[in-house]
Amino acid sequence: MLFGHLAVSALAHRYLKVEFVPVMVAGVFPDIVDKTLCQGLHWLPSGRMLGHTLLAFAFSTAVVGLIWGKRTAWSWAVGYLGHLLGDAYSEVPWFYPFVSYTFKPSPDLWENLLKTLLNPVQMTVEILLTIWAVVALRDPIFQLLSRPVSRIMKK
Ligand SMILES: [Zn+2]
Repeated sequence: MLFGHLAVSALAHRYLKVEFVPVMVAGVFPDIVDKTLCQGLHWLPSGRMLGHTLLAFAFSTAVVGLIWGKRTAWSWAVGYLGHLLGDAYSEVPWFYPFVSYTFKPSPDLWENLLKTLLNPVQMTVEILLTIWAVVALRDPIFQLLSRPVSRIMKK
């Protein structure tokens, strides 16, 4: 789910010292690709398909590296792998299209969200990861939130 993936990326930024923007974008990129193509456009049968593969990981990391350099590519790779590992509680088609997978039809976005919300183990993990990420990044979050207030106070 979105919050867990964002929390994992934020924790990677905090503890692995990777760049914030690429690790956060890569942390949700596989779902943006596959959920859009599956649940949005109905072009793919599963919400875990092309974006959830090592091929997409390697290709996108190479593209990011060519455009923005090695440090950004490393941050992207960390975020992307964090997403794939976070999804590993159920099937991830790591080696597609080189290995054949049986893709079960994905539920629509709302059904998927409801299924997640009603899973106590997954929700507990998501909430704990989010709390950990907020606590670990409390100083930059506080600075970000206090900027508009300090601007208002100066006027
Ligand atoms: Zn995913």
